[in-house]
Amino acid sequence: MAPEIKYTKLFIDNKWVDSVSGKTFDTYNPHDGSVIAKLAEGDKADIDLAVAAARRAFQRNSEWRLLDASQRGQLLFKFAELVERDADYISQLETHNNGTLLANCKLFIGQSGAYIRYLASLADKVQGSTIPLNGEVFSYTLKQPVGVCGLILPWNVPVLMFIWKVVTALAAGCTVVVKPAEQTPLTALVLAALLAEAGVPAGVVNVVNGYGETAGVTLTHHPDVAKISFTGSLEVGKLIQQAAGANNLKRVTLELGGKNPLVIMNDADLNLAVPYAANAVFCHQGQVCVAASRLFVQSGIYDEFVKRAAEYAKSIKIGAPTDLTSQHGPQIDQMMLTKILGYIEKGKQQGAKLLAGGKRVGNKGFYIEPTVFADVTDDMIIAQEEIFGPVQSILKFDTLEEVIDRANDTEYGLAAGIFTTNLNTALQFSKHSEAGTVWVNNYLTMGPQAPFGGFKNSGVHRENGSDCLEAYMEVKTVTIALPKKI
Ligand code: NAD
Repeated sequence: MAPEIKYTKLFIDNKWVDSVSGKTFDTYNPHDGSVIAKLAEGDKADIDLAVAAARRAFQRNSEWRLLDASQRGQLLFKFAELVERDADYISQLETHNNGTLLANCKLFIGQSGAYIRYLASLADKVQGSTIPLNGEVFSYTLKQPVGVCGLILPWNVPVLMFIWKVVTALAAGCTVVVKPAEQTPLTALVLAALLAEAGVPAGVVNVVNGYGETAGVTLTHHPDVAKISFTGSLEVGKLIQQAAGANNLKRVTLELGGKNPLVIMNDADLNLAVPYAANAVFCHQGQVCVAASRLFVQSGIYDEFVKRAAEYAKSIKIGAPTDLTSQHGPQIDQMMLTKILGYIEKGKQQGAKLLAGGKRVGNKGFYIEPTVFADVTDDMIIAQEEIFGPVQSILKFDTLEEVIDRANDTEYGLAAGIFTTNLNTALQFSKHSEAGTVWVNNYLTMGPQAPFGGFKNSGVHRENGSDCLEAYMEVKTVTIALPKKI
């Protein structure tokens, strides 16, 4: 049964409101392409209202600003409890709107409490320092919240992205305006309602559904917004960095795409490496920024590995995301379906060897078979561009030195992985990889304690990890003259 849709309006100043224009937009279920709700469509006027509310909530002596840091943490702990209370409903809603396998949703929404609690626990751990300035002075630093933050989310993992950004910003003491992806607005509204239920004061969290070109652009240009944190494509990330400097100097965190290399050495345990490599690219139908979309296999095991990789991909069970036995669900929408099938055609045209999949499944919803290409070369489009779909591209290499160079030969630098039983090989690859995360004999292992983000064009700054609040804070040096040296 379809989950109830409780919220479809904008959430501004802890109230549910229609958009100023009265416009609405449809949101879909990727399983069958059906419209599941009509949502208020926010644009410039609504972002202006939301930013004004967030600004009021951030004013000196506001309820929010007067909270102790530990009280902010406590409110967020309460939020963690509420998310856990409603985890089942939130998982159903996420699956309904985004097509993530329900089994996976339950798994990672089940982990959201841990993310929230870790980030919330940092609220009262941020400390300044005393500074040994010369002379008759006492000098120290204060770390203070940067102000109103615009948080722009992608559609691929909406709940987790909301939590990473919103909880970090709130733990730091900021107020926020969230712009969810237009494809997946539903769970962000539920999470905003839970923050209000937890006791977060009015105006601290605002959610404006709408499109990037209208609501998103207004947020990134708004002079009263002090910081933008964005997760999404490189193309839009570049626009955001420019917009952030147009009217004021916004602080910017960018978490962008990847063309992530996974390397399998001759000495790897194939029983481990084959399923890991498959999951590393087919997980969530390839719609993860760290998807291992370039799989480098060493020549000594290449033929055997390719054979097993194709067999593995063919064994993956495709089915409705609500069926707990399904291993592979739909892509997000018609546009991505068409784009990914286009990449598969390009792979065939450029001479890659198609060994599994390659086709759409059925004609309802947005399903594509797990697809394996072998004999891919570095110059092929499928080896260069982020596909964001279930396409495994296998490339052959001979030496470690060669594969380090080839793995790094991309504008992206989000993640990389290696399977090997040789410690020196693993350490050398990890040291020289131009990537924000390197996995050795595993892939996709993540947690709130580990900083996450990219080198090169995969992003700016890190999310998670013990320092992550700093990206939402300013450092202030205070120097006090003393009547006499102490
Ligand atoms: P996208 O860039 O198309 O959209 C992301 C968000 O930006 C949406 O909310 C959209 O409405 C908004 N937007 C679009 N144009 C805008 C503009 N001009 N100004 C302001 N906002 C604008 O990305 P997507 O298709 O939703 O997500 C997929 C991309 O996200 C992939 O490239 C993926 O790798 C990346 N991603 C990265 C991470 C990470 O942590 N590095 C995590 C998840 C996804």
